[in-house]
Amino acid sequence: MTTTTSVRNPATEEVLQEVELLDEAATDRAIEASARALESWRRVSPADRARLLQRFGDVVDEHLEELAQLEVRNAGHVIGNARGEAANVRDVLRYYAGSPERHGGRTIPVAGGVAMTFPEPLGVVGVIVPWNFPMPIAGWGFAPALAAGNTVVLKPAELTPLTAIRLGELALEAGLPAGVLQVLPGKGSVVGQRFVTHPAVRKVVFTGSTEVGRGIMRGCADQIKRLTLELGGKNASIVFADADLAAAAAGAPGGAFDNSGQDCCARSRMLVHKDVLDEVLELLRAPVEGFRVGDPADEDSAMGPLICADHRAKVASYLDGRDVLLQGSCPQGSGYWMPPTVLRAESPQDPAFTEEIFGPVISVLPFADEDEAVRVANDTEYGLSGSIWTRDIGRALRVARRVEAGNLSVNSHASVRHNTPFGGFKQSGLGRELGPDALEAFSETKTVFVATD
Ligand code: NAP
Ligand code: MG
Repeated sequence: MTTTTSVRNPATEEVLQEVELLDEAATDRAIEASARALESWRRVSPADRARLLQRFGDVVDEHLEELAQLEVRNAGHVIGNARGEAANVRDVLRYYAGSPERHGGRTIPVAGGVAMTFPEPLGVVGVIVPWNFPMPIAGWGFAPALAAGNTVVLKPAELTPLTAIRLGELALEAGLPAGVLQVLPGKGSVVGQRFVTHPAVRKVVFTGSTEVGRGIMRGCADQIKRLTLELGGKNASIVFADADLAAAAAGAPGGAFDNSGQDCCARSRMLVHKDVLDEVLELLRAPVEGFRVGDPADEDSAMGPLICADHRAKVASYLDGRDVLLQGSCPQGSGYWMPPTVLRAESPQDPAFTEEIFGPVISVLPFADEDEAVRVANDTEYGLSGSIWTRDIGRALRVARRVEAGNLSVNSHASVRHNTPFGGFKQSGLGRELGPDALEAFSETKTVFVATD
């Protein structure tokens, strides 16, 4: 039985396209095709695999504007960001195109012969992608998985399947053999769940909510299935009194409102030393009130809409009946709009300060000293990213080592680069993506001993 979903433009609420959703039988057929493709893909020589990934990157580059415009319509990302996201897929493909020829094993001195190791592909890898960054998160999974000789089945989020579907077509255009990378639109509870239960899928790469991730981890336990989890975050930006306060305040809106705050790395908690709180709030006023929210296709927009009506209602519930410190503006009428907002946290237990809102909301809390800042920053089940603003290099490194998070930046809000490891401490995730070691997460080490005596 075939069902479809209406994919909407979140800036206008208009239906863009009907997309067919795979049922379980169709998912099984795709997984079986992936398992068949694996037999030849794993034997493609490393140099040829590298060339195919390089060419895939080139084809993505040739279609960069098309992909970006598609993401503007489907996900409401502002055009500048969407171009960066398509470029990220290209860059990740090119980076991991350098890996197949460098992905070797070791020889280890042992008695009576020679011991050597081989990094073997795992098999079929299932990648489950959320709606917030449809292109980059897909690429972070499929590029290193393919480079290591695995085949990939990829499930985009039901709300945002269009760029992933296009990337699947571009892979074929670039010459990747059929079945090596398949994009399977469908429901999480059907297609995503089948990646967990189907024995031919040897690894699941999941990015999404901590709640769904927990269920996937439980399901993978039945088959001791390999798993990478990239989950939520409630990331702290700690502003010390000695910081360049103007730079910290100028960077804060981008660090929290980028992608309408629908970013697991969003700096949604702002911890400010009590002596400079008033000054920082005053410095925040202009960049927050002037943060340009509007048509995501407009080159001047800094922020587009939220992804859907349900999500907007959830974000708005955190603002119900509260005094706001600062607020920008947003379009009225159709589209899932929300103004960028700064709240004063009522206490460290304030839900706006502890829960991942996933919208354009910053909660500010003052602190008295370094110990308190670290304690409050760490008082969360999450541990994905964070920022430290100070001119004291000793303090910067000391605090960076004490904050329990996978990705920290000093005097910056940048978290993600394709060439550095990315992932979470605590309930923000399991394992790392990107960076020079990503192929390890897509390989199984085999040891072979050859007797010589
Ligand atoms: P979600 O509800 O957890 O969904 C993520 C993906 O999982 C979607 O493709 C979804 O499919 C699928 N899914 C849902 N239920 C499933 C199940 N039972 N079995 C298998 N797959 C299932 O998350 P979301 O609401 O899309 O995304 C927002 C969350 O992702 C936030 O919490 C955010 O922090 C997190 N996130 C984390 C990172 C990171 O790198 N750490 C990056 C981005 C986002 P449907 O299409 O059916 O929804
Ligand atoms: Mg969801």
